[in-house]
Amino acid sequence: MQSSKLTQTLSFGLDIHTGSGDDLQNGCIEARRIRNETNRLDKHGWEWDEIKSTVVDNANHVKNTSQLIVDKALGEIETYHDNKDDGWGRPYPYIDGLYPMVMNHEEGYRLFLNDDETVRFRISAEPRNHVKGELRGSPDHFERLRTALTDDDWRVGTAEIVHKHDEWRLHATITHKNHRVASKADADTIVGVDVNEDCIALAAMSRSGSVKDSVVFEYPSVKERRHEFFTKRKRMQKAEQNAFETVVQAEERDYVHDCLHKVSRKVVEWVSQFSDPVLVFEDLKDMRDTIDYGTRMNRRLHSLPFAALQDMVSYKADWNGIPSDEVDPEYTSQRCPRTECQHTERANRHKKRFKCCECEFQDHADRKAAVCVVQAWFEEQYGNVPSLETLPRIKKVRRAASGAGGGPDSHGCNLHSGVDRHGTLARPSQGAREELKSVASAVQD
Ligand SMILES: [Zn+2]
Repeated sequence: MQSSKLTQTLSFGLDIHTGSGDDLQNGCIEARRIRNETNRLDKHGWEWDEIKSTVVDNANHVKNTSQLIVDKALGEIETYHDNKDDGWGRPYPYIDGLYPMVMNHEEGYRLFLNDDETVRFRISAEPRNHVKGELRGSPDHFERLRTALTDDDWRVGTAEIVHKHDEWRLHATITHKNHRVASKADADTIVGVDVNEDCIALAAMSRSGSVKDSVVFEYPSVKERRHEFFTKRKRMQKAEQNAFETVVQAEERDYVHDCLHKVSRKVVEWVSQFSDPVLVFEDLKDMRDTIDYGTRMNRRLHSLPFAALQDMVSYKADWNGIPSDEVDPEYTSQRCPRTECQHTERANRHKKRFKCCECEFQDHADRKAAVCVVQAWFEEQYGNVPSLETLPRIKKVRRAASGAGGGPDSHGCNLHSGVDRHGTLARPSQGAREELKSVASAVQD
C-alpha cells in the first residue's frame, strides 16, 4: 500500500519591519513572468528540460526559487495532461494576476525562532532584496511551527508567498521525517464530513455505495457561548472598555479552542474504526459565499470554527495515518442523495431536516450533506457515483461543555423522534440498516 510523508501546510500573516509589501509584490510579478514564459515555451513545443534551464537563467529570483516556480507552472500543465480526457481545460497561457513566489527554507526564505517564542522571517523578494519581519497566526500553527523548527524529526519545507484578503501571507509546509500517511487512492472507506456551527456530521461509505455508518457530533454550547461572548464584546465596544474586551476575547478563544480539540479527537476516534479510511471535507475556500447569513449573528461569529475544526481534525487524522481530501462544496446541502433523483433545490432543506421536493426522500440534513460530500468525491475522482444503497439510523453524540475547560459528555436531550442517540462514542450499527423508505418515515416530524 502506498503512503506519503506526513506534510502539513501552515498559514501565517506577515508583519513587515524591513522592506515593504511592494517588494513582495514585485517578487510575485516576477514569479508571474516566469510562469507565463514557461507556458509560452511549452506551447511552442520546447522540451521541459530546456524550458527549465532557459527560464531559470533569465529570471530575477534566487536560483532555487526560480526553479520551484517553473516546477509549479509545469506541474499545472502536467495536471492538465493527466485530466484532459475528463474535460479539464489547459492552464491559461497568460495570467495577469499575481503568481506565488515558491521558496525553499534556508534558500529563498528563512524562519528564526526567537527566545520569546515569536518567529521572525526573511524573504528574498529579489536575489539581494530581503523583506524581514515577524509572523502572525493562530496558536496551533505557531505551536506546530516551533516544533518543526526545533525537533530533528521535522523539516521545514517549501513556502509560498501569496496576497490574500488584502494582506501578505506565508504558507509554509512542514514534513515529518518518518511518520507516514496512507494514500487516499487506496482508501476503502470514504468518510464525508459536514461541519456546521453546532455539529459535525460524518458518513462512512464503502466504494460500492453503502453507508457503513454515520454519526452526528453535536456541540450546541459552542454556538451558544460564542454568541454570548459576541454580545458581551459588542457591549464593551460601546462602552470602550478595551482592556476587558481583550480578556473576553481570550476567554472565548480558549473556550472554543478547547471544545474543538475535544470534538476533533472524537471524530478521529470514530473514523479510526474503519478499514483504510479517507476523510473528505468541503473545500472552505469558496464556502463563505455559500453560507446563508440571514441570521442575527454576523460573519465574524461564523467564520472561525469551520476552518479551525477541519484543520484540527485533519491534523489529528494525519497522526493516525489517515489521509484527508477536499471537494467542491457546491450544493452538498441542497442535493437529493438518491442517485436516481439528485434533485437540487434550496427548498429541499428546512434547518436540520432534508426533504426532497421531487421524490420526498427524507433525512437529517447534515448527515445527508455528509453523504453528498462522499458522492462529490466519487464524482471528482472517478466521474461516477455508485448508487446509494441503504442508510443506517442516525446516531447523535452531544458534547455539553460547561465552563472554560469543557465538561464531560452528557446525555443531553434530543428533539428528533425515532432517531437513536448514544451518550457515548458511537459504535458501528449492527444490522440497524433499513431501506430508504423506512428511514424516511422514521425521521418524519
Ligand atoms: Zn429526491
